[in-house]
Amino acid sequence: MRPNTVIMPRELTAENGAKCLLSGEFSVGHFIECGYCDEGDAKIDPDGDYEECELCEGQGEVHIEIPIDWPTIKAIYAMAVKHLAK
Ligand SMILES: [Zn+2]
Repeated sequence: MRPNTVIMPRELTAENGAKCLLSGEFSVGHFIECGYCDEGDAKIDPDGDYEECELCEGQGEVHIEIPIDWPTIKAIYAMAVKHLAK
């Protein structure tokens, strides 16, 4: 049977390999307003017909992934150690 606890470093650092291992591995999804159209309408002429924006495919917003930065990953880990370490 696997034990419920493991031996882990107290801190994530570059020296123990954590920075290389975890940097860029996590992100959060977010929608931002598309800057290339008017709510999905990409027509240049104000009296022109509706033209679907190619960038956002007519959605008016674009989904982006924002990476979780290294200081934040370290902070999350540090709080877990603080409260869960025995
Ligand atoms: Zn657009």
